[in-house]
This record gives sequence, structure tokens and C-alpha cells, in this order.
Amino acid sequence: MNQEHFETQAIRTQTSNGGHREHSTPIHMTSSFTFETAEHARALFNDEIQGNIYTRFSNPTNNEFIEKLCLLEEAEDGIATASGMSAMFSSMAGLLKSGDHILASRSVFGSTHQLFTQVFPKWGITHTYADIDNQDEWELKIQENTKMIFAETPSNPALDLIDLEWLGQLAKKHDLILNIDNCFATPYLQQPIKWGADIVTHSATKYIDGQGRTIGGAIVGRKDLIKEIRFFARHSGPALSPFNGWVLSKSLETLAIRMERHCENALTLATFLQNHEEIESVKYPFLHSHKNYKLAKKQMKLGGGIVTFEVKGGLERGKNFLNSLKMLSLTANLGDTRTTVTHSASTTHAKLSEEERLEVGILPGLVRVSVGLENINDIIGDIEFALNKSKELTLA
Ligand SMILES: *Cc1c(COP(=O)(O)O)cnc(C)c1O
Repeated sequence: MNQEHFETQAIRTQTSNGGHREHSTPIHMTSSFTFETAEHARALFNDEIQGNIYTRFSNPTNNEFIEKLCLLEEAEDGIATASGMSAMFSSMAGLLKSGDHILASRSVFGSTHQLFTQVFPKWGITHTYADIDNQDEWELKIQENTKMIFAETPSNPALDLIDLEWLGQLAKKHDLILNIDNCFATPYLQQPIKWGADIVTHSATKYIDGQGRTIGGAIVGRKDLIKEIRFFARHSGPALSPFNGWVLSKSLETLAIRMERHCENALTLATFLQNHEEIESVKYPFLHSHKNYKLAKKQMKLGGGIVTFEVKGGLERGKNFLNSLKMLSLTANLGDTRTTVTHSASTTHAKLSEEERLEVGILPGLVRVSVGLENINDIIGDIEFALNKSKELTLA
């Protein structure tokens, strides 16, 4: 393992030099690679030597992105995928078979919930949800055919945390694959493999790109598991475009410094909201009032870039609040340089029933803010303006 620090690894790992002494990594936009001889081709296809054959299998630009991410997550191996969802899907479809069961935390990303409830049942792969706050429930819900435990921490958008050390021990005790979606925290804030995760899945669309430019994903972890997933991906085709691989590799160079500022701005905003009389409740892992504050301090370096809150006055006021924002963007994405605001119940989690939403902590008026890198005073200024304006509108 490389002894350099996180930031240095993220900046200095360069594997895809094009041979022109270029300082910045080139983009290898090619669908295939040539063979020196017929014998070279034969040896490559028979895994006797390592090398690039075809971009659906591997590509030097994508290899650089994934090599960096493996160093940052302290993972043995990994693959890049076209989106976060193709990472989630491949990490499960590549390792599980008909009859297998997944035990998952109840609050998962909306599309992951659709995979569990609508897609995998078609192939006889079932799931059970366990409450993120109820540790006893987890062991009781492990079945004879359970093969994988899947969880997000912090969860989206409820910002609930699960104890990764405890979960790692539970998975080990029952010989289950622990798969953690580390999209919200990024390896800069949290390294699930250190706590016992076998694989870590990412939507690179969020903080890894960090600038709202591209969709991408990654799966990193244990060599033997990645080998199986790589076989599945090679033949089912969720390959990342090398252009996007280049964007993501360059983005990792600034991950640490961006996350520092995202977290600083988020904590300042959360503290401001906590003291504001027009706010019903606010949630942020590094606020003392968060129920998992101690756990957050244990397994996360900083609190992350997401803050959720509820404006007083319910759904109507919430809508007026969103419509009164002047600078902050109304969009479903998160992890951007720009602060984005989402009403979860009507957008990202609209496909869930009202009851399912409440089970995962999505109240009707819940607003999710992905705190960006603008000056924090301007972010707070816009939110304060919208709080005041929405009060007038709601009273009128
Ligand atoms: C966005 C997101 C995904 C899906 O990623 P895409 O890149 O949009 O496919 C999965 N998990 C979490 C926690 C996310 O926020």
C-alpha cells in the first residue's frame, strides 16, 4: 500500500500516460486497442497477460480513475461504471443468484429501492428491510439464504447513520457480503472498508465529480468479489465513457479540499437554521442535537455536505419557501459546487407511498440542501430571504 497521504494519492496517481510527456492525463477516446501480434491477442484474451483490449472491458483513462479511488478507499480492486445505479445493480446482480436474499437498511436511494422491490424479484432475488436505528432487528432478519447486507450511511435524505463497525462484525459473524453505498460521505470523510465492508459502491455523479457535469459510478473492494463483478460488467456492459472517466479522475484531485469546504459551509448553515425561529427541525450529523452525533464523530471525519430541515407551516409554507429562493438551484442533484435544494417527497422519493416515506423519515415539508462552495453568507442570505418571503406569502 502506498504510504502517501490521501490528497497526494488523489493528485499524483497517474497511470494513463499517452507517451507524449503530457503533464495532465490524456483522454483515451478509443473503443478498441491494437494487438502487436496474433500471439499477443491470444495471450490477452486468455488472461495470460494484462492489458487493454476493448473499452467495455477496460480503458487506461478509466483505469486511472479507479486506481485512485481504490487507493482512497483502501480497496484491493475496482471497476468504473456509467452511473451510480449501474454500480449498485452490478454489485448485486454480479454476486447474487436466484434464491438469494439481501438484508438492507430501510432508507436507501429511491432507485435502489425500485431495484429491490420491482426488478430483483423478477429473478428470484428477495430483500428485507431493517430499521437503521434498531440493531437487534438486523440479526433477527438474517435468513438462511441471506448473502448480502446493503446500507447507506448517512442515508438519503434522512441523514440517519448506521454503525459501520458493528455492521462489519455482524456481516463477518454470518459470512455475508457487506456492501456500502458511500456516495454521501466519499472516502475523504469515511472509509467503510476499514470497518469491515467487503465492497463500496459509489454514485460518482455526486461529490466525486462535484461539479454537476457527468453521471458515473464505481465499485471497489475485495479482489475476489470484484473479479466476479468485473465478469458480469464485461459481458453486460455498464462501461464508463473514457471522457467521463477523465472528468472523474481530475475531480478526485480536488475532492479533499472541496469536501472540507462543503462540510464547513454545511455546519455553519445547520447551526444558523438550528437557531432560527421559523425552522421546525434541522438535521446534520455533526450537530450535537443529531441522535447519531457520537457515531458520526467516530466514523466520519466531518459531517458531510447535506443538511435537511423542515420549515414551520407545513407543506404549503415549504412550497412557498422553495419558490422564494433567488440564488439556490431547485434540482434533484446533490454534491455540486452550487448549492442545490430538493423537496424529497415530491421528487426523488415520489414513487414511494406516503407510508413508506414516513418510515424512512421523509416528512411532507422536508427540504434537503446540498450545501455548495459559494460564500456561506450568500447561501444563508438567500435562505433567510426565502424564509421571510414565504412567511408573508403563506399568511396572505
Ligand atoms: C444519486 C445516488 C445514487 C444513484 O447514482 P446515479 O449516478 O444517479 O445513477 C445512488 N445512491 C445514492 C446515495 C445517491 O445519492
